[in-house]
Parts: sequence; structure tokens; C-alpha cells
Amino acid sequence: MGGKHAVNELAIFGGSRLFSTAKPTSNLARPNIERFLAISREFIDAHQYTNGIVARTLERRLSAFHQTDFCVSFCSGFWSVALAMRALAKPRKTEVVLPSLTYRRMADVAAWNRLTPHFCEVEELTLANSAETVRPCINRHTALILGVHPLVNLCDIDGLVNLSDEFDLPLLFDSVESASETFAGRRVGGFGSAEVFSLGASKLINGFEGGYVTTNDAQLAERLIMMRDVAHGQATDAPVGGALNVQLSEVHAAMAIAAMDDLDDQVNRNRRRYHTYQRLLASLNDVRLIEFDERYHPAYKNIVIELLADWPLTRDETVAVMNAEMALARAYYGIPLHRKPMAYTHVSTELPITERLAERLLILPSGQLVSIEDIGTIVELLGFISHNASDIKRSLSRT
Ligand SMILES: *Cc1c(COP(=O)(O)O)cnc(C)c1O
Repeated sequence: MGGKHAVNELAIFGGSRLFSTAKPTSNLARPNIERFLAISREFIDAHQYTNGIVARTLERRLSAFHQTDFCVSFCSGFWSVALAMRALAKPRKTEVVLPSLTYRRMADVAAWNRLTPHFCEVEELTLANSAETVRPCINRHTALILGVHPLVNLCDIDGLVNLSDEFDLPLLFDSVESASETFAGRRVGGFGSAEVFSLGASKLINGFEGGYVTTNDAQLAERLIMMRDVAHGQATDAPVGGALNVQLSEVHAAMAIAAMDDLDDQVNRNRRRYHTYQRLLASLNDVRLIEFDERYHPAYKNIVIELLADWPLTRDETVAVMNAEMALARAYYGIPLHRKPMAYTHVSTELPITERLAERLLILPSGQLVSIEDIGTIVELLGFISHNASDIKRSLSRT
């Protein structure tokens, strides 16, 4: 394999790196740049640099794509979740139910809204929260349920929708990682009270930065637009109170439109990478690829594996060995949120499935900068690690 014949040839022990440039897990999808520049002409000619004609065009494109009545754009996914949560949370209630194994800033989003995160378990099979894991966390303080789609496939959409009806609670979906999936014949975007997406460079639709909320609720859309535009434009003599600057830049909107034009091609490129991983990983029996469910029409963006009981190294040792080779594999969401030191109150019970998964799941390099050939090299490296594990462990304990 690419020169590795012995354990001391691994880069972590001083050998030369397998890759001369980084092979990240970030998508970094690059659309047609001429197309991006042509769209950018529009806002340059109009002298509008923020929240202008291109952002409006993007919102129309996105609401058509997600088959929803409304799409409201923001400067980031973070602010999209934060403000949707603020608009939806039941007044005088204090808790938001959310998974612990998720986006690292999610508890901060709740705290920013002065809501208490109440961490729920995830399902072993889906890696996501569900009606069954959320139900025990619902109490008289519950203000909102947050359903978060995992990196591969979907969370329990039907179950959570029924649960939110049963308890008359607002339901927000974080759909950042499932932006193009379909469920029951409809595209993700129109389920629950609202859904939130990101246009960050590591996400499916690369707008450099940005985010948006989709909904079929006219009042909610109006409220979100108020928060974004009216609060921002607040008269200078108005009392100080909650004004924000969260509008989407035109240059980001232009990039996102170019990325949407490229989406079908991107999915084809992702599918090839995924199928290559699937074929090659089948030869390793101590790792399991989390497979995409074709019924959801996935975008095949993330490659997630579980290190099975026979896998000889810890997940973090595995990441360290790979990263030294410039294969920038990383932990699936790292430390679960309920395990992090938190400056604010939170509610959490035992979360054994979350804790187990948090130590066994790994994201492998994928996206624009990873070629089919690179995937062969990465899977060979995994095989090399597996076959030489006891030597690697011995050498690691000496460093
Ligand atoms: C990245 C991400 C966000 C936040 O989006 P940004 O645009 O980076 O602020 C929210 N939720 C999930 C699941 C994410 O992966």
C-alpha cells in the first residue's frame, strides 16, 4: 500500500504522509464558478450587497425545491435554528428536548434563547432521536421538540410529528444534514412546524456561509422576516431590545444558487464515492458502513462507519493515526453535549446508547477534495491499521 510496509512507516511514527494535501470530511462542493460570477453580476449591478434580489431569488428556488410555501434566509445555520426556536418555543415554558449526540453548538442555541436543554437518547439504528426517545423527556416545562436528522438517513419524522400533535408542542427539525432527502414522497422541508438548513461550505449546498428556515406557516414566516429585517432596521430612537444583524449576504446567495444548479451533478459524484467506499469496506469485517437508504433519495454526502467490537484500536487512536497521514477522518460529533462542561443548567438522564455510539463512530473523508483513488488509499490504510494493530498499539504507548 502507498509505501506502508511496516508500522514505523506510518506518519504518526515519523514516516512520510500518504497524502500531500488534506483529505477532509468537509463537503466543500465547488459549483461552476463562471455561473457563480454571472449571478454575482446581478447584485453588483444593483449595488445591493446584503439581503437583496439574489437572496430573494434563492429563497424562491429553495421553497420550490423543498415544496414549502415559505423560505426565510439568514446569515448562518446557527441563527436559523436559534431564531426558529425563539419564534416557536411555547411562551412561559422553559425546556427544549434535543439529542445529545448532535451539532456541537446546539445546546448553546437553546441557552441563547434562555431555554434549558433537555437531552434525550438516540436510537441505536438511526443514530437520531425519535418519538420513543423524546417521549420520556416531555414534561410540563417543555417548550419545543427539536428533531435532528443524523449524518446518514433521517430521524423518525412520522413519530415526532404524531408526538408533537399528541402533546400540542411545536416541532422544529434540524435538517442540515438531510437537505435533499425525501420522505413519504415529499422532500424534507415541510414537516413539523418548520425546518432549518445551513449553506455553510461543509454542507450540501455550499453558499460559503448562510442558512434558511422552511415552513408552510405564514405567521411564522412573517415573524422570522420581522426578526431578520424589521428588528435590524429598527429606528435609531427605538428602545434597545433584541435587534439583530442576521441577513444573508448577496455573494453567499449567488454561490448557493450556483450550488443548487450543480446539485444533481454533485449527488452523482457523491454516489460514486459512496459506492466505492461501500465496495471496498466490504473487505474489512471489523468496521460497518452506515448505509444510505435509497428510499429517501439521499445525497450520499457523509461517509460514517462504526468501529465494531473486534476493531483493535480506540476510535480516537484510529483518528490520530489517520490524521497524521492527512486523511482527516474525525469523530461523529465528538463529545456528546451532555458530557461537556456547561455554563448553564441542563437536564439529562443516563444516555447509554449515545455514550457508546459517541466512542465508536467515525466520519471518513469525502466531498470535493476526495478522489475515487484516494478512497482506495484510505480503505487500504484502515486495513493496514487493522492488520497491524498490536504493533501500532505498542508504538503508540511509547510516544
Ligand atoms: C452545521 C450545522 C448547523 C449550523 O450551521 P452553520 O451554518 O454552520 O451555522 C446546525 N445544525 C447542524 C446539524 C449542523 O451540522
